Amino acid sequence: MTFSGDALIDRLKTIDERIADAARAAGREPTDITRIVVTKFHPPELIRELYRLGVRDVGENRQQEYSAKTEELSDLSDLNWHFIGQIQSKKAKAVRAGAALVHSVDRERVADALDRADSDGQLDVFVQINLTDDPGRGGVSPESVDALATHIAGLPTLRLRGVMAVAPLDESPASAFARLRNYSALVQTVVPDATWMSAGMTTDFAEAIAAGATHLRIGSAITGPRPVQG
Ligand SMILES: *Cc1c(COP(=O)(O)O)cnc(C)c1O
Repeated sequence: MTFSGDALIDRLKTIDERIADAARAAGREPTDITRIVVTKFHPPELIRELYRLGVRDVGENRQQEYSAKTEELSDLSDLNWHFIGQIQSKKAKAVRAGAALVHSVDRERVADALDRADSDGQLDVFVQINLTDDPGRGGVSPESVDALATHIAGLPTLRLRGVMAVAPLDESPASAFARLRNYSALVQTVVPDATWMSAGMTTDFAEAIAAGATHLRIGSAITGPRPVQG
């Protein structure tokens, strides 16, 4: 399978220009922002093509697919894999293997399982916060953010770097990300250098940048529409 490299280059360039514009408008440096290309549902060949175009940060949200792709693309040794999906404790070892950063730690059990999965080195993690009223969505509820951050801070092989969230559909992204920024400040009272913020997708990354996002998770605006799932 081949991909039209030209279309990908154009979309990457356009998005990177929009990221730089939004950063400057917010008085920020574009280089302080990590643009993660979310490649879920797309085949490994697309990731290889992105890599060829200079992309070094990609995001996946399903463990099986993530594990298969990290294995198949293990020759791309300086490619950073970001795990951004819900995690089952029993799959923590597979998630930790190969991950540069796990964005979706939302319960103590998952944090403990990730910590136990490897005794060497440190894994960078974010606390994912649920900004919706639906407890079924990923993320810890806002009132438990403090306790979860404190718990992670006590785990020897995890390094808490910041917060992550997805904006709810029924709220303006600006207001949702303003709330996230407050939770970020709260987490920094527990771990002062947990200053990163993973927020912003295809439709709301400019608002996320304005609110201080350091890690953007952008999928379809760069990859094109995702293949239909079987
Ligand atoms: C799929 C996904 C994205 C990217 O979504 P787009 O709208 O395609 O940019 C970002 N974050 C998470 C958690 C996702 O699952």
